[in-house]
Amino acid sequence: MSRKKLIFITSLGIIVLLGLSLGIILRRCKFLKSTQIIMGTNVEISIYPPDEEALKAAFNEIKKIDNLMSIYKNDSEVSSLNRQGEMKVSPETLEVIKRALEFSRITGGAFDISCKPLIDLWKKARKEGKVPSKEEINKTLSLVGYEKIILEGNLVSFKERGMEIDLGGIAKGYAVDKAIEVLKKKGIKRALINAGGDLYALGEPPEGKKWSIGIQHPRNQNELFSVIKLRDKGVATSGDYRRYYTIEGKRYSHIINPKTGETVQDVPMSVTIVAADATTADALATGIFVLGATKGIELINTLPGVEGMVISEGMEVKVSRGWGQFQN
Ligand code: ADP
Ligand code: MG
Repeated sequence: MSRKKLIFITSLGIIVLLGLSLGIILRRCKFLKSTQIIMGTNVEISIYPPDEEALKAAFNEIKKIDNLMSIYKNDSEVSSLNRQGEMKVSPETLEVIKRALEFSRITGGAFDISCKPLIDLWKKARKEGKVPSKEEINKTLSLVGYEKIILEGNLVSFKERGMEIDLGGIAKGYAVDKAIEVLKKKGIKRALINAGGDLYALGEPPEGKKWSIGIQHPRNQNELFSVIKLRDKGVATSGDYRRYYTIEGKRYSHIINPKTGETVQDVPMSVTIVAADATTADALATGIFVLGATKGIELINTLPGVEGMVISEGMEVKVSRGWGQFQN
C-alpha cells in the first residue's frame, strides 16, 4: 500500500471515530428537561432533540386538558357539565368520557367516573370527622352508575338529576398521551413525560435502549421497590400511600368502590400498570386498585398489551403473565 493511501485511510478512520464519539456525547447531553406544577402534581418533561418550542407546546397541551377537565376549577368544562347535567363538550372531553366508559365495562364497574357524589360525601365526612351513615351512602349510590351517562354525538347528559363526573382517575394519563402526540408532531423522537407517576416513555432514553422506570416502595418513601425497563409504553401507579385520610382513627383511601359506596378497604398497597398508552395505564391502575390483587391480575391477563404488578399488605407481590419482559 502506498504511503499516501495509508495516510488517507488512517485519517478517514480518525474522522469516523471522532464523529462517532461526538455523536455519543451529543446523544447523552442534549436532552432538554423541565418541570412544572400542573393538575396538582409535578409534571416533568424530557425531550430529544432539544426544542424549547416543542417543550412549551407539550406543557400547554397538559394545561389545556387540565382547564377542560379539572373538578377543582369552577370554569372547567367538566364543572359546567356537572352543574348543568347536560352539555355539548369538546372532542377531548368526549374522548376521555368514552374511554372511561370503556374501562368501566372492562373492569365490571370498578372504574367509574360517575362516583363523584360519593367522593363528595366522603370529603364532607372527612371535614366533619364522622363517617357517612348507611342511609346517606345508599341515597348517594342512586346517583352513581356509568350506564346512566348518555352520549349523543358531542352531547353528554346524565339520567339522574344530581349526577356528576370526576375524571381524576384517567385525565392525567390522557394529558400525558396528548402531550406526547404534540411532541411527535413537532418531530420529537425521544421523550419522557411524567405527571406524578403517570407517564409515557417515547423512543430511546439518553443512554441505552430502554427507559428505566423506578417503582416506589409503598412503605419506604425514599426507596425504590423495583425498576422496570421499557420504551413506547404508558405506565401508571396507584398507591394507598400517596393520598389517604383518617376519620375517627381509621385510614380511608381516596379511591371509592362504586358498588358499595365505601372507600376501598383491604386494598393493595400499590398497583402499577404498563400499557400501550398512559390513559389505559391510569384508568386501569385505579380500577384494579378497587378490584384487588387476585381479580386484578386475572383481569390484566385477559387484556392484550396490558401488564401489571400489584403489591399487597405484607409486601405480597403478584405480577401478570408478561411482566418479566420489563425486568431485564
Ligand atoms: P392519583 O391521583 O393518586 O394518581 P388515581 O389515578 O388512582 O390516583 O385516581 C384517583 C382519583 O380517581 C380520585 O382522586 C378520584 O378523583 C377518582 N376516583 C376515585 N375512585 C374512583 C373509581 N372507582 N373510579 C374512577 N375514578 C375514581
Ligand atoms: Mg388512575
